[in-house]
Amino acid sequence: MTKLELKKFQTTLLSRQSELEGLIRNREAAAIETSADALDQIQHAVERELALGTLARESVGLRDTRAALRRMDDGAFGACIDCEEEISLKRLAAVPWAARCIPCQERADREKVKGDDSEPLQAEAA
Ligand SMILES: [Zn+2]
Repeated sequence: MTKLELKKFQTTLLSRQSELEGLIRNREAAAIETSADALDQIQHAVERELALGTLARESVGLRDTRAALRRMDDGAFGACIDCEEEISLKRLAAVPWAARCIPCQERADREKVKGDDSEPLQAEAA
């Protein structure tokens, strides 16, 4: 991977990081909002349920993004965390925070227990 490519991925990851941080902050603020109106409260509870699901996904996304930026600092970005082979640029272009090459990700997806949090393999990355 060239320095320029690396820089591009870093830019993408940094902007995703701040985007997710902003979303999560807003959602946390919304989750503690209260309403005096009973009907509003019911509506709000439903929204909060939905928001918590989204929040969980965003938190995972943020964690993966931060981990990718850390690997970049360590000079390990672009290498699979399982087999240490290079992750294809095509896959990284689709999923810049990918920690594994496709075969290892597929294996990890198969082995993962319910409720695991790794990034699902995106179809266009194949
Ligand atoms: Zn691998």
